[in-house]
Amino acid sequence: MAKILILGGTAEARALAGMLEGHDVTLSLAGRTASPAAHPVPVRTGGFGGAPGLADHLRAEGVERLVDATHPYAARISANAAEAARQTGIPLLALRRPAWARQPGDDWTEVDDAPAAVVALGAAPRRVFLALGRQEARAFEAAPQHAYLIRSVDPIEPPLAVPRAESLLARGPFEAAAEHALLAARGIEAIVAKNSGGAATYGKIAAARALGLPVILLRRPALPEGEAVESIGAVLDWIGAPS
Ligand code: NAP
Repeated sequence: MAKILILGGTAEARALAGMLEGHDVTLSLAGRTASPAAHPVPVRTGGFGGAPGLADHLRAEGVERLVDATHPYAARISANAAEAARQTGIPLLALRRPAWARQPGDDWTEVDDAPAAVVALGAAPRRVFLALGRQEARAFEAAPQHAYLIRSVDPIEPPLAVPRAESLLARGPFEAAAEHALLAARGIEAIVAKNSGGAATYGKIAAARALGLPVILLRRPALPEGEAVESIGAVLDWIGAPS
C-alpha cells in the first residue's frame, strides 16, 4: 500500500490511523497541546514551514498519498495541504466533519470570529461558558464585565486579564448529561463555541437547547476546494485499505 501522511489533530485522524496500523502511515500534529492523545502510528510534530515546506517534506519522505484530517477551523494547514498537493502532484483527500445544523429549540447567533462573538455577548454582564479552545479566548479580554468559565485542554498562559475567569482543563468527548449538569451548576447564561461538528463536543449544544441557553457560534472558515469525504470508511476506500 502507498506511503501515507495524515494531517491530524482530531479524533477522526486518530481513529483513521488506528485502522491503518501496520501500514506505512505517519500522522502529523501541529503540536498545540502539551500532552497530545496517544496515536497508534508514528507521529511527527510541528509546522512544515508553509505550503513550500510541506511540499518539500512530501517529496523528501516519498509520501504517495496525503490525507487532510485536520480540524474544520484549522484552515491554514488545509490551504497549505491543497497547495502542496498541487505543487507535487501527490493525491490529496480531505476528511471533513459536517457542521452541526440548527435544530428546533436552538437559540444560535452565528458570527464570523471571536471579536464578533464579544460584540454579540452585549454590554450587560453575563456568566459565559467559553468552549472555544485557547487561541480565540484572548479576544474576550475586551469584555471584562462578564464572568467566564473557560474550558481548554491546556491552561491559557498568561491567564485572561479579566476580573472573573475560571479555567476548566478537560479533553473531550463531553456527554450531554454532564454538560447539562455543568451549565446548570455554574449558572451559565450564554455559551460561545465553534461549530466543530461531530458527536464528541455536541453535548454542550444539546444541553444548551434543553436549558434554553443562547449559543454564540463562530462560523467555519472557508476551506480549499478539492476532493473531500465525510467518513473514515470513504478515506479507507480511497487509500485502497479494507474498511
Ligand atoms: P492552522 O491555523 O490551520 O495552522 C497554523 C499552522 O500550524 C500551519 O500553517 C502549520 O504550520 C501548523 N499546523 C497546523 N496543523 C498542523 C498539522 N496537523 N501538522 C503540522 N503542522 C500543522 O491551525 P491551528 O493554528 O492549529 O488552529 C486553528 C484553529 O483550529 C483554532 O481555532 C484551533 O482551536 C482549531 N483546532 C486545531 C487543532 C490542531 O490540531 N491543529 C485541533 C483542534 C482545533 P506551517 O505553516 O509551519 O506548516
